[in-house]
Amino acid sequence: MGYLTEKVTAVHHWNETLFSFKTTRQPTFRFKNGHFIMIGLEVEGKPLMRAYSIASANYEDELEFLSIKVPDGPLTSRLQKIQVGDELLMSDKSTGTLVTDYILPGKNLWLISTGTGLAPFMSIIKDPEIYEQFDKVILTHGVRYVSELAYNKYITEALPNNEFFGEWVKDKLLYYPTVTREPYQHQGRITDLIKYGKINLDLGLPPMNPEVDRFMVCGSPSMLKDTCAILNAMGFREGTKKEQGHYAIERAFVEQ
Ligand SMILES: Cc1cc2nc3c(=O)[nH]c(=O)nc-3n(C[C@H](O)[C@H](O)[C@H](O)COP(=O)(O)OP(=O)(O)OC[C@H]3O[C@@H](n4cnc5c(N)ncnc54)[C@H](O)[C@@H]3O)c2cc1C
Repeated sequence: MGYLTEKVTAVHHWNETLFSFKTTRQPTFRFKNGHFIMIGLEVEGKPLMRAYSIASANYEDELEFLSIKVPDGPLTSRLQKIQVGDELLMSDKSTGTLVTDYILPGKNLWLISTGTGLAPFMSIIKDPEIYEQFDKVILTHGVRYVSELAYNKYITEALPNNEFFGEWVKDKLLYYPTVTREPYQHQGRITDLIKYGKINLDLGLPPMNPEVDRFMVCGSPSMLKDTCAILNAMGFREGTKKEQGHYAIERAFVEQ
């Protein structure tokens, strides 16, 4: 696989466990919103690469990523120290399942994320086509602490004022951040909020229904397992490349 070299153009530390960064983008590099690529650093003369969802939209000039800081993680113990001007390696091909090709047409698109699982959905909520395809786009983000609600201000303040599709965002995007270990407007695990219908009640939406509701889910392996079990019990079916379904999933990381 060929690696591209890109330069870091911005770094933002959200807190001690989470940061995001932007890089240059070669005009020839193309991807679908929701896709991931491999990114990394050269360590002892060899590429040290990890999967990362692209948080920017595919029409933007730069690439953006949201990253965990694993204290002893081979890549992120180093990556968290990057500065503007540093070079990163990236694969030149993207892939992923969080694309509408995997799901049947529907009315409501639920983007269910925990932690860095938000990243692919940042790309998707900046995609004007998604607002053409769905009446409502509901973005949920489950975290432990309020400081982990990355892009909260961007989603609530900048996006609705986007000069091209801000009106659609105001009309169609519902944002539901929820916190488990601190007081906050919405509290609790996303899986419980779905299972007991609290999220629908809070947002004034009818109970989830396979006729109209579609889902993309990105979180830890255990969150995915629990969410799939809940969705399956409600009569939803996972979509694949071969056969569209009601939902598509992607791991936000792999347990080693
Ligand atoms: C399809 C896919 C997309 C991914 N997208 C992203 C992304 O957009 N942002 C991102 O930060 N990571 C993402 N990851 C995880 C990423 O590939 C690395 O695991 C992460 O960067 C840590 O690398 P590391 O070498 O420091 O530690 P690793 O050795 O890779 O991981 C060490 C341990 O840290 C924990 N861990 C790793 N990543 C995370 C995470 N994101 N959140 C919570 N705990 C974690 C796990 O317990 C893991 O076993 C993705 C993984 C996959 C499979």
